[in-house]
Amino acid sequence: MRTPFVVGNWKLHKTINEALALVTDLKNHLASVKGVQVGVAPSFVAIPAVAKRLEDSAIAACAQDCFWEISGAFTGEVSGAMLADAGATWAIVGHSERRQFFGDTNENVGKKAKAAIAAGLGAIVCIGESLAERDGGKTLEIVDAQLAGGLAGIERASIDRLVIAYEPVWAIGTGRTATPAQAQEVHAHIRKRLGERYGADPADTIRIQYGGSVKPSNAEALIAERDIDGALVGGASLEAADFIAIVKAARSG
Ligand code: PEP
Repeated sequence: MRTPFVVGNWKLHKTINEALALVTDLKNHLASVKGVQVGVAPSFVAIPAVAKRLEDSAIAACAQDCFWEISGAFTGEVSGAMLADAGATWAIVGHSERRQFFGDTNENVGKKAKAAIAAGLGAIVCIGESLAERDGGKTLEIVDAQLAGGLAGIERASIDRLVIAYEPVWAIGTGRTATPAQAQEVHAHIRKRLGERYGADPADTIRIQYGGSVKPSNAEALIAERDIDGALVGGASLEAADFIAIVKAARSG
């Protein structure tokens, strides 16, 4: 039985004070919600304040990225150890916006995931095809390549800290969501690949989140699918009421 994991990706939104207001609201409303794991990913600069506010809560502070080197002349980057020191317990890597705007490659995503795990964090490895790739019948091929790169440095011993987020790029921030059946088809394929790499039983324990315009109105149907174990939520995670409704829709049991 996999505990669903719902993470809010706040992207380039929320000052520290705004982040604290939102997370305080979430903490108050989600304290008694069981059967689901919750995380929020503020900007790097808000992580320490958010993590401190969440100290007495089960909500995890997450990072939106993680550089692969530990230290050195890499202006603008943040290492896994620095993220852990700031209070993060998970790092999202390979988000499609990082791939699209900041040049993340499958190989780099693998290095980032490995570095996050080496620093003691969990890694949420994002994969997903563009609309042209889907229309060209290449969805599974793209997902396979991204998965192979993203998992290159992750051994079986660490899979309890591995989460995959399947996020079709055409559904991110567009209001267009994959149908539960479309998402389930890819999630089942991902689990099959995880089984080939780590063994069927271990692969059965790995959470695979869906991401792409998840809202209170579609969350329950998506997460009810057999291989969909929660959500990575962008836009709808910026409003407490919407995110709380999504978390509640994801509860298992
Ligand atoms: C995301 O950024 O990971 C995402 C899924 O965004 P949205 O929910 O806004 O589509």
